[in-house]
Amino acid sequence: MLQFFNVTKIYPGSIKALSDISFRVDKGEFVFLVGASGAGKSTLLKLLTREEVPTNGQILVSGKNIVRFRGREVPLYRRKIGMVFQDFRLLPNKTVFENVAFALEICGLSGKQLKERSMYALERVGMAKKADRFPAELSGGEAQRVAIARAIVNNPMLILADEPTGNLDPDNSLAIINLLKEINYTGTTVIVATHDAFIVDSFRQRVIALKDGKLVRDEESGAYAG
Ligand code: ADP
Ligand code: ADP
Repeated sequence: MLQFFNVTKIYPGSIKALSDISFRVDKGEFVFLVGASGAGKSTLLKLLTREEVPTNGQILVSGKNIVRFRGREVPLYRRKIGMVFQDFRLLPNKTVFENVAFALEICGLSGKQLKERSMYALERVGMAKKADRFPAELSGGEAQRVAIARAIVNNPMLILADEPTGNLDPDNSLAIINLLKEINYTGTTVIVATHDAFIVDSFRQRVIALKDGKLVRDEESGAYAG
């Protein structure tokens, strides 16, 4: 499904965020990407979304070298990825339903299909009953559920979550990762960047650990600490 080949990322000012990273993730895998703040987790996700390009190395996703994408290829590629963030990033002036539907509108969908698919995504995360609420009326756990509905509404091949439990209490954190696991069971590949040791140790999934931009550990059923 995706593969990094000797990827190095150096930001302006000679900051080496990632150093010679190689790994492969197969379709349907669930991966925790762990490491201290500054280890390079967000940079790795930004390379996968093509917000950044590597200084060296290649990245294959579904057989395509995303580093070489030009122009329209980038937005078309991004539609196949669902993204979830620590701070939810819901649009405050749109309702829950509109936040989810907007992701489909961008892809040219409208009418009955848009309504049905948006409501189905909200049902999957248990938020259909709050479709007409605004983000400010939601708890953190609820807001993150809506963000997950928005991420899955396009049926993405890949979901990337950057510290999705960073603003949640332990119960809501477990619920959100359980939800991502449920989505993963249906075949979607999921990568969760986190420094939440409680979550990683609770779920025991594949763990890829970064330290100072280097890949220092890659384990099946791993723990947060090596
Ligand atoms: P993490 O997500 O694990 O906290 P990041 O990928 O955000 O790590 O950061 C890795 C390193 O790259 C850090 O030293 C950080 O300061 C640096 N960095 C991240 N983004 C930029 C940027 N846009 N410009 C310069 N340095 C950056
Ligand atoms: P949690 O226990 O997850 O921290 P909260 O105590 O923040 O949740 O919220 C509990 C419930 O109250 C949620 O169902 C949420 O939708 C609702 N709620 C929270 N804040 C508001 C608000 N400002 N206006 C209306 N409903 C709210």
